[in-house]
Amino acid sequence: MKFIPDKVIEVPDIPFKDIVHLPAAQTAVVVVDMQNDFVKPGGQLVVPAAIETVPAIRHLLETARGRGVRVVYTMDTHFENDPEWKIWGEHCRYRSWGWEVIEELRPADDDLIVQKNRYDGFYGTWLDHMLRVWGVHHLVLVGTMSNVCVLHTAASAGLRWYHIVVPADGISTITDFDQAATLRQVSWLYVGDVVRRTQDVRFDG
Ligand code: ZN
Repeated sequence: MKFIPDKVIEVPDIPFKDIVHLPAAQTAVVVVDMQNDFVKPGGQLVVPAAIETVPAIRHLLETARGRGVRVVYTMDTHFENDPEWKIWGEHCRYRSWGWEVIEELRPADDDLIVQKNRYDGFYGTWLDHMLRVWGVHHLVLVGTMSNVCVLHTAASAGLRWYHIVVPADGISTITDFDQAATLRQVSWLYVGDVVRRTQDVRFDG
């Protein structure tokens, strides 16, 4: 199928699972870039839908922590003259207000903080190393933006043979097309599981 300009395209069916069960000890929840600049009024690159995902992410974190599941936060992190600012404008300047994780999702003391410089949470970071030290094989990814940092991190995990799970109500982006494309790539290309809601993810053991 070649791309035909101006053709109206159909979104393929997204194969949502009703429930996904994961072994708590081999699972980590990864909260991607829920930082003030992306989520809060006054932020530099606000994704309007991101604030709506906060209750679902909070619920996921409470459930995960109650089961002893590891929690990881990625933080988009840039310094003066970062080349990414030529694309997106200034955002997530190291140690600025915009760089901080939003108050509602404040990390716990023993959560892993992964400062990343590009969209992929694995690229140039200690994320893969720590997950392997912990014996983690399953990753539940939430955060923003779906088709940028969530998808690139999910893709990078998939390429390393982690099992990835993405709840649709825990990720956010600008357009419906980008949201659907993310869920399609996760389920089709990286053979991950997609569920409608964070509460469809169950931690066993
Ligand atoms: Zn960035």
